Parts: sequence; C-alpha cells; structure tokens
Amino acid sequence: MTHYSAFTLIRKALGANRGWTRAWRNAEPRAGYDFVIVGGGGHGLATAYYLAKEHGAASVAVIEKGYIGGGNTGRNTTIVRSNYMIDGNTRFYEKSLQLWEEMSGELNFNVMLSQRGQLNTCHSPAQMDAAARRGNIMRMNGIDAELLTREEVRRRVPILDFSDHARFPILGALWQQRAGVARHDAVAWGYARGADRHGVDIIQGCEVKGFLQEQGRIVGVRTTRGDIRAQKVGLAVAGHTSHVARMAGLRLPIETHLLQAFATEPVKPMLHCVVSFGAAHFYVSQDDKGGLVMGSDLDGYNSYGQRGDLPIVEETMADAKALIPLLSRLRVVRQWSGVMDMTMDGSPIISKSPIDGLYIDGGWCYGGFKATPASGWCFAHTLAKDRPHELNERFTLDRFRRGHQLDEKGGGPTPWAH
Ligand SMILES: Cc1cc2nc3c(=O)[nH]c(=O)nc-3n(C[C@H](O)[C@H](O)[C@H](O)COP(=O)(O)OP(=O)(O)OC[C@H]3O[C@@H](n4cnc5c(N)ncnc54)[C@H](O)[C@@H]3O)c2cc1C
Repeated sequence: MTHYSAFTLIRKALGANRGWTRAWRNAEPRAGYDFVIVGGGGHGLATAYYLAKEHGAASVAVIEKGYIGGGNTGRNTTIVRSNYMIDGNTRFYEKSLQLWEEMSGELNFNVMLSQRGQLNTCHSPAQMDAAARRGNIMRMNGIDAELLTREEVRRRVPILDFSDHARFPILGALWQQRAGVARHDAVAWGYARGADRHGVDIIQGCEVKGFLQEQGRIVGVRTTRGDIRAQKVGLAVAGHTSHVARMAGLRLPIETHLLQAFATEPVKPMLHCVVSFGAAHFYVSQDDKGGLVMGSDLDGYNSYGQRGDLPIVEETMADAKALIPLLSRLRVVRQWSGVMDMTMDGSPIISKSPIDGLYIDGGWCYGGFKATPASGWCFAHTLAKDRPHELNERFTLDRFRRGHQLDEKGGGPTPWAH
C-alpha cells in the first residue's frame, strides 16, 4: 500500500486529486469472458478475486448496475461472527471468520476488523440452556465460545438494564470473543482492488436485463451496455436474486423483505462489544465515530423499496430502551434499509442452478456480510470446478425440494441475530 506524508496528502487534496492512481480500472465491457459475475457487492467481488487468484481464471468480469458496494454491502451493520451450531453452517462461518482475520494482510487493504466480541443476552433458564448447548457445539467445532453469568455480563456491559424493575432481567449471555465488526466499504474496495490487479474487469453502471440462451444453456447476459457472452454466469445480487433468476426462467424459494438500521448521534465510548438482545430482535454496537448502530427485525411485507416503515422504527426504539435505558436520551440521526433475499430456512444458496451455465450465490438473509470472504471463496470454487467445495456442499438449491433444510434461521429471529 502506498504511504503518504501529511504534507503530501494536503498537497494532493488541494490539487483536486490530480496524480492519484485509480485503485481499480473502470473497465469497458468486452464481447465475452470465461466468467461473468453479476453483482458488485462484497460477494461478487470476492468471488472474482478468488476465481482469478486461487483458480487462475484469466477472463473474469463483474457487472454492477450501480456502483460497487452500493447494495447491502454498504448498508449493513457490519457484524461478523461464527456462532452457528448446525452441521453445514458451523465450518462455513468459521472459515469465513478465519478469512476475515487474514483479510487486511491478504488484500493489503485495511478492512478495520475489530474483534471486540459479541454478547447474546439470555433472559430465562431455557435460554441459558440453549446458549450452553450452542456454546458447547461451537467449542466441539473448534469455535471460541463462553457462557457468562449475570455478573460477568454486568462487568463487560454495565449500561445494560440490571435494575430490579428491568422488563427482561438478564440471567447471563453467550460470548464470542473473536466476533466483532469490520468496515463495510473497505471490504468491497479491498476485493475490487485485489481482483483488478489479477486482471478482473469491474464494470459499473451496467445492469443485467436478461440472459443469452442457446439450446437451454446460459451463454451470456443482456445488459444496458450490450450483450456480453460468458462460459459461465454467476449471480451474486443479494436482494435481487429471485428477480434476476426469473429473467433466466428460474423461480427461487426466496422472498424479498426490507431490513432497517439506525445510528444515533456520536457519544463517548460506552459500548465496547456487540450486544444482541435475547428478548427481542434487536442488536447494537458503537461505531468508530461514537454513534450507536442499531438493527432489528424485518419489515413484515415484500418490497424492493430500500426504505422501511414506522412500526419497525417504534419497535426498535422500544427494544433499545428495554435493553439499555440510557439510549432513550440519544437522538437517532440516521435510518436506512436494505433489500434482503430471505430463504425459508435462513441458510444461503451457493450452488449450480438447474440451468446449465448459471450459478447462484444468494439467499443471505440478514447475515451475509460476515459470510463475504467464505462465500466468494466457495462460489469461486463451485464456478471453477463445476462442483461445490465441501464447505458449501449443503447450500444446494434442491435442499428445499428434498426437505433437507439447514434450519438455523441464519441467526434470524432468534437471540443469535446478525
Ligand atoms: C440493515 C442491514 C443490516 C445488516 N446487518 C448485517 C450484519 O450486521 N452482519 C451480516 O453478516 N450481515 C448483515 N446484513 C446482510 C448483508 O448486508 C448482506 O447479506 C450482504 O451484504 C450481501 O452481500 P452481497 O455482496 O451479496 O450483496 P450486495 O452488496 O447487495 O451486492 C449485490 C449487488 O448486485 C447488484 N445488482 C442487483 N441487480 C443487478 C442487475 N440486474 N445487474 C447488475 N447488478 C445488479 C446491486 O446493485 C448490488 O450492488 C445486513 C443487511 C441490512 C440491509
């Protein structure tokens, strides 16, 4: 990475950025590629990076309708963790966390991973039992986990409601020290720069509107900038997975919903880890500027609107106050939402599709940010080798037809959210 002195930085800023080198080329579409990845979020860019780097693919393009990282990658609450317990999920998410741990070095780009720990609060003896079970399974899979008592939780996060009149008294928590947060934009930028250096074309402002098909096989994409042929097309379009797949004639078991997030005005450091509330679908962390970043449940209707409605705002604020009463003194200064591709079991799809030449990476629900590196890694393997890696062999599309769901709700409406 290039290092600049403060003087050089000021001189470059005053010089209207003249002389900066682009971190990645703004490529023009070519007539054809071996691999076309649709979607320039973290998943699509990571896939392209690993295709080129791990599998030697020399002809790869990422097609993005807007700008890279402008989808859910730039809209999420940046929590990374691997506290899963179902076979098929455990090893995949742990691989992802390990890739996060290496990512800044691997990409030579600071993705600001902060392993400040995540705490899932428990509010009943049954929840304590469930937390113990989950923690034990995690540890048996080599994933770090710790069961905390009420006093240990209080020492870590004294601002939670430990009063006698708490609406949801805290009995303890499950703790993962290696969980934390990372800088969302940087992940997209780091993978983009890495992919570009391996010769990947990153094509922004180019929307896929349909597919080129010959004898039942997908042989390319129709875009707003012309047709682009491809040996293989991979979809990594998050909230638009079912919409784009339908253009190829494929109906997916995915529903599209909105998920909102909120940030407060900045305050001094007061929350040193990520907290997920076991009594409601709510979680919170403090960002580097001092704002409290909060998230909660889905808006309960299908939409591509990227906005979100007031009932969830009200519910989130009520949950915030029930968990951390002093949050009621802070002003919320930002609210936004993203479009989620919800599978019925909360687990993703990284798989060949029933249509030759078309591959799917989607169904990430609430939790795909943490999966970014392993998703790219496994999807690249699936595309290059035409078969899944053992880490994603359970994330098939046909599991819904066979009834072999991985029903962990992606940490959805359970205490293990986000
Ligand atoms: C409010 C919120 C909070 C969240 N919090 C967390 C969290 O704390 N931790 C966590 O792990 N996950 C979280 N998530 C989920 C996470 O953000 C997503 O699962 C993840 O970012 C998906 O990454 P992606 O690269 O697949 O998608 P995206 O970043 O959305 O990339 C997909 C890209 O495809 C492009 N595209 C779509 N259609 C087309 C087309 N026709 N042609 C070309 N391009 C197209 C889009 O423009 C977009 O840039 C959260 C999501 C939201 C909305």
